[in-house]
Amino acid sequence: MYSLETIWGQALADGRFAHAYLLVGEGAATVAREFLLRIYCERQCRTCAICLKILRGTHPDVKWVEKEGKRIGIDQIRQIQKDARYQPMESPRKVYILDGAEHLSQEAANSLLRILESPPEYVIFLLLARSLRLLPTILSRCQVLRLKPLSLSQMREMFQSRGLDAHEAEYLLALTHGFPERLSDLDLEQSGSSPLKRKSETLKRLQGITNPELIEFFSEAKGLIEEREAALELLKRLPEKQPHDILETAQILSKLRSEKLEFFLQEALRWYRDLALIRESDELIFNRDQQDELKQKRAGLDIAELTQAIDALEGAHDALQGNANVHLFLESLLFTLAGSGGGRSPG
Ligand SMILES: [Zn+2]
Repeated sequence: MYSLETIWGQALADGRFAHAYLLVGEGAATVAREFLLRIYCERQCRTCAICLKILRGTHPDVKWVEKEGKRIGIDQIRQIQKDARYQPMESPRKVYILDGAEHLSQEAANSLLRILESPPEYVIFLLLARSLRLLPTILSRCQVLRLKPLSLSQMREMFQSRGLDAHEAEYLLALTHGFPERLSDLDLEQSGSSPLKRKSETLKRLQGITNPELIEFFSEAKGLIEEREAALELLKRLPEKQPHDILETAQILSKLRSEKLEFFLQEALRWYRDLALIRESDELIFNRDQQDELKQKRAGLDIAELTQAIDALEGAHDALQGNANVHLFLESLLFTLAGSGGGRSPG
């Protein structure tokens, strides 16, 4: 995991925090949660009443704000403005987390800026974003912390220090792509069974179920292992589908919560990039546990078609943030993906 000490070192030591931090990168929400645990419970014990309130999202001095619809809107920021005037109830600090700060509407961003200019001294803002696409004036008010992926060897060391053997460490590497924060406690601890065992149990469950059932499983999956295996299974099935199946799949996917859809699109992008890269280098690919399958599939694929699929996926995030009709967009995307292979190998 990121060491909080590396990120907040001095502030944690002397309790002098900036009023606003911007965490950019994958895993920002997990880093934010660890930070909350640390400032409210010095031991980060995860078991005391305070920690439980934070983990369950019920601590009265911690407010998570996410986009409503496509944006974080002005009303949500006005609410914060009002709320911030009241002293914290159970602790010395109040923390507002704006999850997806790149989705602030223009008005909301302007309004936030006014609070950031002179916040009450007990308030800390944590802005979480995937990109730096924010008003420069907001950036200038925040301490910007970029979360970088760990190197392969750092990750291997970390997983092995948790008692996982080399095979399991390799599998978790494939899942996390250098961002161990993607793993929830569910993935590592609560399950009581090893990651590889859960992978094979998941694959067994997915065998032979229909596409709508598969998407439902994906939609309800809480652990990264189940989520990723289901997303990959769906991707591998695409090229085998008949047009009416693809239309049906697009229809069901368009109903998913936006984080789920985003997850699926990210996995798709990684899968198709891997297909394009697999001949060049094994070290560069994301889905390290799928190397044999990737190589097999790559053999029959046309690089121009692969490039088209990758382009479509790279544009997906922006298209969906704009006013694209999600359903129509997905139909066209899935047809492009199905046409670019990446499906199950023959036999
Ligand atoms: Zn605690």
